[in-house]
Amino acid sequence: MKNKLVADIFREIAKLLELKGENPFRIRAYEKASQNIESLTQDVEVFAKENKLTSLPGIGQDLANKIKEIIKTGTLTQYEKLKKEVPKGLLEMMEIPGLGPKTVKLIYEKLKIDSIGKLEEAAKSGKLRKLDGIREKTEENILKGISLLKKGRERTPLYLALKIAEGFLEPLRQMKEVEKIEVAGSVRRRKETIRDIDILIVSKNPSEVMDKFVNLSYVREVLAKGETKSSVRAGENEIQVDLRVVEKESFGSALMYFTGSKAFNIKLRQLASKDGYKINEYGVFALTKGKEKKVAGRTEEEIFELFKMPFVAPELREDRGEVELALKNKLPKIIDRKDIKGDLHVHSKYSDGTSTIKDIALYAERMGYQYVGICDHSQGLKVAGGVSVKDVYAKIEEVRKINRQLKKVKVLCGTEVDILNDGSLDYPDSVLKEFDLVIAAIHSGFKQPQHQLTKRIVSACKNKYVHVIAHPTGRLFGVRDSYEIDFDEILKVASDYQVALELNCFPQRLDLNDINCMRARAKKVKIALGTDAHILDQMLNMDLGVSVARRGWLEKEDVLNCWSLDKLLKWLKK
Ligand SMILES: [Zn+2]
Ligand SMILES: [Zn+2]
Repeated sequence: MKNKLVADIFREIAKLLELKGENPFRIRAYEKASQNIESLTQDVEVFAKENKLTSLPGIGQDLANKIKEIIKTGTLTQYEKLKKEVPKGLLEMMEIPGLGPKTVKLIYEKLKIDSIGKLEEAAKSGKLRKLDGIREKTEENILKGISLLKKGRERTPLYLALKIAEGFLEPLRQMKEVEKIEVAGSVRRRKETIRDIDILIVSKNPSEVMDKFVNLSYVREVLAKGETKSSVRAGENEIQVDLRVVEKESFGSALMYFTGSKAFNIKLRQLASKDGYKINEYGVFALTKGKEKKVAGRTEEEIFELFKMPFVAPELREDRGEVELALKNKLPKIIDRKDIKGDLHVHSKYSDGTSTIKDIALYAERMGYQYVGICDHSQGLKVAGGVSVKDVYAKIEEVRKINRQLKKVKVLCGTEVDILNDGSLDYPDSVLKEFDLVIAAIHSGFKQPQHQLTKRIVSACKNKYVHVIAHPTGRLFGVRDSYEIDFDEILKVASDYQVALELNCFPQRLDLNDINCMRARAKKVKIALGTDAHILDQMLNMDLGVSVARRGWLEKEDVLNCWSLDKLLKWLKK
């Protein structure tokens, strides 16, 4: 799979072009191509072989040729040339969230700073603020950005970790020597970023399994190989993967122990000792007259039962009150993938998606959905193929026609309308009222002060045609942190005006995150799941969104996508 390599080179090119002050459309084209290829679930080489690269969103003939060159040679002539024109450290500096190319260039030209280390030093000693256009606040932001970057390097986003984990699980699962296999750790809890991957197996012949494990194609480096535990670094991120052999009799307690979280385990340990038990990775033991007797550990279910608790889903195990609720048998009935009846954010060819509305509808039908919301960008967002007012009417007609043809799936004609810098929307009300589904989103001005960004979202909520605020906090893994908004204020207005907030399931977004979903739920603000798919198979990212929703304690009533079509339509028409 060369997807990540291609994506990385395109992303770097975008940055290099930015440093050189090139045309923003060209830069954006590379960024988009990078994101789309990175999130592609199929192998880009297959597309290349079948000459189908141009069927991918944002890939024209020119980029297609470049992809072929990368696949063939491992790099790109244009990229190598650009790299020579720009000092290497500047590219790294541009990875600092919130630090734009103009500032990087300025700092380099005036102070000859060409590395993150030097930049950190200069920011700490207040040297940067002596430059024109750099204030104390900018300096603070740079330091914040550097620490964010350092943190980000230690952790891998969930979608990548899941891919790598599956790359290990799948071949091992097929071995006859493997009796049981399960991924534990933060992957099993579906945390949004992952530090390492823990895999547990039961096997009577572990050495065969260990041999296979350390020789799988993902492995970059073998850190340790033993009879009961081996560790490797894997994938482009060189994430650590541990494989442990455990006894069948202890599989449940080991799974629970290695799933964590640490805080959850501590809670359980306290509970155990109060009841006169001891719990560890080998089992639960009763202590009587100084003697230990094992009373549970074969399965997790058995352990929960012993503590008189229902099964606590791994996504809930964070010590956020779930243990107390479980003891009272009052755990939230969190949603399940099978509860999802539709996707509320998909792009079609009308804007920057690759598929026709009909194809999206048929794909939704194959996924077992009852409805799909097709929300293309609005007129002003030219870089993303925003839909002109004239085309809006054509789209509405087309959707009507398709809805007459299809029996199982209803297409909702939607828009992802841009919230402009002054808080107004990118279509007039006379156009907005024609849509079945209006999601409003911020795509520019991320660096505005908090009150201004908050005001923009608040005024969008107050528009009576807006149903959902898309990707409400704007974070993009590895690209930028959430923009600054007063989330409590937004929740209050969303609740007052009955506007839902989106849980955008795009792998680099996952926005709202779990904590913010919990906060929304507490204020009874509804959540809308949308994959933001630009290619059909990105609609499969719904799974990721459901994981976040589960971590955010969301129940069916909280999530629009779990509602029947009738109930949803009624709510949309409110
Ligand atoms: Zn968007
Ligand atoms: Zn979108």
